Amino acid sequence: MADDVRLRFPPSPTGYLHIGGARTALLNWLYARKHGGKLILRIEDTDAERSTEESIKGIIEGMEWLGIDWDEGPYFQTEFAADHNKAAQTLLDSGHAYKCFCTKEDLDAKREAAMAAKTTVGYDKTCRHLSGEEIQAREDAGTPFVIRFKVPEREGSVSYDDKVLGYMERAYCDIEDFVIVRSNGKPLYLLCNVVDDIRDRISHVVRGQDHLTNTHRQVLVYKALGAPVPVFAHMPLTLDTNKKKISKRSHGEIVAVQWYRDNGFLPWALCNFLVLLGWSPGDDTEIFSKEELIQAFTLERINKSNSIFNYKKDDPKFITDPKLLHTNAHYLRTMDLAELAALLKPQMQAAGLWRDSFDSEQKEWLHTTLDMARERFYTLKDFTTEGRGWFVDDFDMDPKALQKNVLKHGELKEWFPELAERLERLTTFTAESCKEAVKEFAAEKDIKLGIPMNGARAILLGQIKGPSMFDVFAHLGQETVVRRLKDAGKWFEA
Ligand code: GLU
Repeated sequence: MADDVRLRFPPSPTGYLHIGGARTALLNWLYARKHGGKLILRIEDTDAERSTEESIKGIIEGMEWLGIDWDEGPYFQTEFAADHNKAAQTLLDSGHAYKCFCTKEDLDAKREAAMAAKTTVGYDKTCRHLSGEEIQAREDAGTPFVIRFKVPEREGSVSYDDKVLGYMERAYCDIEDFVIVRSNGKPLYLLCNVVDDIRDRISHVVRGQDHLTNTHRQVLVYKALGAPVPVFAHMPLTLDTNKKKISKRSHGEIVAVQWYRDNGFLPWALCNFLVLLGWSPGDDTEIFSKEELIQAFTLERINKSNSIFNYKKDDPKFITDPKLLHTNAHYLRTMDLAELAALLKPQMQAAGLWRDSFDSEQKEWLHTTLDMARERFYTLKDFTTEGRGWFVDDFDMDPKALQKNVLKHGELKEWFPELAERLERLTTFTAESCKEAVKEFAAEKDIKLGIPMNGARAILLGQIKGPSMFDVFAHLGQETVVRRLKDAGKWFEA
């Protein structure tokens, strides 16, 4: 049985790996993995003008980063041109297709006439009924032709059972005799895609509802070629809150998988989020391990209606869907610390935050730092931006923290060095001893404890919120705390 389960991801390499494409790949992968089947990666590069090497590379890198592995391929559609041409000839020979010599001008005129007469617009089948001699004469004259598929003229319909949408039927009379080979001899998607799926023995086609307009025609092609029709499952589209398709042109980089990689997202967090854009487990579980998701996944639970990707253009922190940020935060905040450190190392190195000792004697200190810092973080990037203060003295202070917790209390300019001296005198530097010292200080000055505490948070970490300040004192250590507090005057000058 498992041998029979064969799915494919056949992207056209004309751009970046779109998150919608990644979702398609993911759902196919989940089904293949659940059933011990195979996933085939096929690059549909027949559109030579639009296909690029860079795009192919981007798709492959994106899938590798996401952890969506494939069992066969990448195959390249252009390598199978002979199969496509042969299938076109087979369809001609078996009377399922015909050569159409109508020119573009003929077709335009016919379309206009049909529109004026308010009859159905569609090819009027002039060439379907040409005699053998008429065809020969045109061929001898070198008249260019396309090849059209002969949709049955009798009453009836073509149908398939969609795993998601149910019984899908279309009357023959509503399908025009569609073109399968262009006048330049190049077979079109509708044919190539079916021929490849037949050759690759694809059992399940899981793809977006944007392909619904193709499926009935493709079922006709399968039947005409005498091949079994695969199971179809059409997924809903992913739209923005204005019900518009999300594209790079209108939504920018956040539609490309690469953006998530470069902006500190964890690949499985993205997968976890993407699967729920269009599929539901039937309860409100939102976090799945790989194994759990593979177990839970069924085609039948793919949603019928479109899913919404919340995109907030004006909020740089939450520019992508907040749910994705929360999913990412969940994984970030619960993952193994050694694993997290390994992920962060290259970025910390690039940001000048890495110390060699983090691999040896300071390893534990690093892990505790990451654990304390991540309580509030959403992406890996946050560690090297908002998180700089945990590692080095030169960081940018959150302007809100500066305003509210530092500048608002002008006296702090004198108080921070005083507090620093008091902390410098401590012979044991623990959360408790720091707490006593700061409490005494606040009592002497007759101010609320919050004032030196929140001020110190800003001076030490540049942030407005964070873990317990006494733990932060103890963790950063006496030297760093004293140095930064003594140096706090710089923030008042800026
Ligand atoms: N190359 C097509 C696309 O990227 C494949 C569609 C299909 O799954 O059949 O949309």
